[in-house]
Amino acid sequence: MLRIAIAGIAGRMGQALLQAVRENAQMQLAVATVRPGSDQVGRDAGEAAGLGSMGVFITDALPPKGFDLLIDFTSPENTLSNLAICAESGVPAVIGTTGFTADQLEQIKAYAASLPLCLAANFSTGVTLCLQLLEQAAKILGEDSDIEIVEAHHRHKVDAPSGTALAMGHVIAASLNQDPDEFFLFSREGQIGARKPGTIGFSTIRAGDIVGDHTVMFASEGERVEITHKASSRMAFAKGATRAAAWLVQQPPGFYNMRDVLGFN
Ligand code: NAD
Repeated sequence: MLRIAIAGIAGRMGQALLQAVRENAQMQLAVATVRPGSDQVGRDAGEAAGLGSMGVFITDALPPKGFDLLIDFTSPENTLSNLAICAESGVPAVIGTTGFTADQLEQIKAYAASLPLCLAANFSTGVTLCLQLLEQAAKILGEDSDIEIVEAHHRHKVDAPSGTALAMGHVIAASLNQDPDEFFLFSREGQIGARKPGTIGFSTIRAGDIVGDHTVMFASEGERVEITHKASSRMAFAKGATRAAAWLVQQPPGFYNMRDVLGFN
């Protein structure tokens, strides 16, 4: 039985992860954390979620031991301090948090020298497949097409564009040997002039309770290809994260993503 720690159990993803862990016969919840100062501290994680007692009491910090794997979908700062704790005991981690700076990503990669870490901006199988399709589409259509990435999320999302949209852009840029710093275009307003060839445009929608929609458009003269993914429930990410967890505990230290988990790399 794999003993799982879920960071940020009270969050939207924390709750979906709790459900996914409960539904997995090979896993059991061992640790559940919330933000310090939360009124959830000390409560039974199952009871707090309306699922009945699970015998796991919510804490405001990750303990040094007592779990075999961490699943962390919280904030960049919290994820990094949790990884420092995992590094002490060599515990692998599945990281779904988005919005890391380049410096923070370097710190995560440094931990991966001694820990198995799986980081993905999107743990859904469908999005992971889309990344694969985008690599192919970029190779075939990219040179002659204008590429636009449009993403839509719920009104509470704090980072933009989404980590998934950025991951899609990076896959396309790598396929086309482009430097993201030069070709990613995050805002357009006023007299912007004609489209600069090779740029990859990003557009963001924040509205209502949209779980996560992404469309990548390859538009050329006379035709347009669109690759779209729509998530209708956070369980798509949570199930992907538990699948990644089961895979990750079998791996040596390294920096993995969901494409590795599904065997695409
Ligand atoms: P949320 O705000 O509902 O949940 C985040 C939770 O983290 C909150 O409950 C917050 O209290 C908790 N938290 C913050 N600091 C903490 C600390 N020090 N200790 C313990 N808990 C702490 O947000 P969400 O929609 O669940 O998303 C969380 C993160 O996951 C975001 O970065 C989001 O972009 C990302 N996300 C990733 C995927 C994916 O597949 N990779 C999917 C959905 C969301």
